[in-house]
Amino acid sequence: LPEQEAFDIEYWLLEEAKLQRMPKPKSLAGRVALVTGGAGGIGSATAERYLQDGACVMLADINDEALASTLDILSGQFGSDVVRQVNMDVTNENAVTTAYAEIAVEFGGVDILVSNAGIASSAPVEDTSLDLWNKNMDILSTGYFLVSREAFKVMRVQDMGGAIIFVASKNGLAASLNASAYCTAKASEIHLARCLALEGAEVGIRVNVVNPDAVLRGSKIWEGDWLEQRAGTYGTDKDGLEEMYRKRSMLKRSVLPEDIAEAAYFFAADTSAKSTGNIINVDAGNVQAFTR
Ligand code: NAD
Repeated sequence: LPEQEAFDIEYWLLEEAKLQRMPKPKSLAGRVALVTGGAGGIGSATAERYLQDGACVMLADINDEALASTLDILSGQFGSDVVRQVNMDVTNENAVTTAYAEIAVEFGGVDILVSNAGIASSAPVEDTSLDLWNKNMDILSTGYFLVSREAFKVMRVQDMGGAIIFVASKNGLAASLNASAYCTAKASEIHLARCLALEGAEVGIRVNVVNPDAVLRGSKIWEGDWLEQRAGTYGTDKDGLEEMYRKRSMLKRSVLPEDIAEAAYFFAADTSAKSTGNIINVDAGNVQAFTR
């Protein structure tokens, strides 16, 4: 190439690179988010919040039926080109890697990971079988590790930083009666987030935690054995439990999936650019209150 032309090309490439590195506007436009447990109550509310702000969203879940119906609703609202679904069991290493490959094909990468897929299953310690203990650890602790490890790999290659949000639980900070397996698994998510925040800081990957208190409405967790177990522990039904959580909170309000989505939005957006390794408790003031 003639000297001037080579110089022009080099200059143009540098300008392009600079443009790519410029701070993005305070919205999620142009970002790609992967939401695990995206077919569930908190996951789908978070996906909807991100889509409202211009992100593309990949919903990942093991429940194909629920995935299809969530996809149907969200693509009806926002268009089928900005939201897709992938079957991903977060406990299966190969399934996680394959799903990330699929996201690369569909959307070209991942800027935001919401690790949210979960269950709630527990019992008094003497009735906690090894299977029950391992189930909590596999999905909540190992699952969060596997999806984050893959996110780190992708985000490092993209070299554009990234945001990882863990939907953990108030129960990862405070003990809950007859729920040692769930509480311990959730505590490990929170500490994993702190460790990853430290590692990610070097490459602009922020890792933060949203801790919901009980979200009874819209959550499938509160339809299964967790509801039965909590109802047994506190001697009341679903409405009674919601009332109990509401009453013992400082604000005397119930927490909804949309409330968790809003906190997950804050940690995804550039408004939280200087937050990492942090926690927001979305609990109506329950964690800090001694009112029970
Ligand atoms: P949900 O049951 O409505 O959604 C959870 C989703 O995760 C479901 O769609 C389920 O199919 C999916 N999932 C389960 N195992 C999976 C796996 N191995 N791989 C991929 N997907 C899997 O429940 P939710 O209330 O929306 O819960 C979301 C997260 O919030 C969970 O991590 C839960 O522990 C946490 N959380 C919930 C509450 C609450 O009261 N609802 C409180 C604190 C924390």
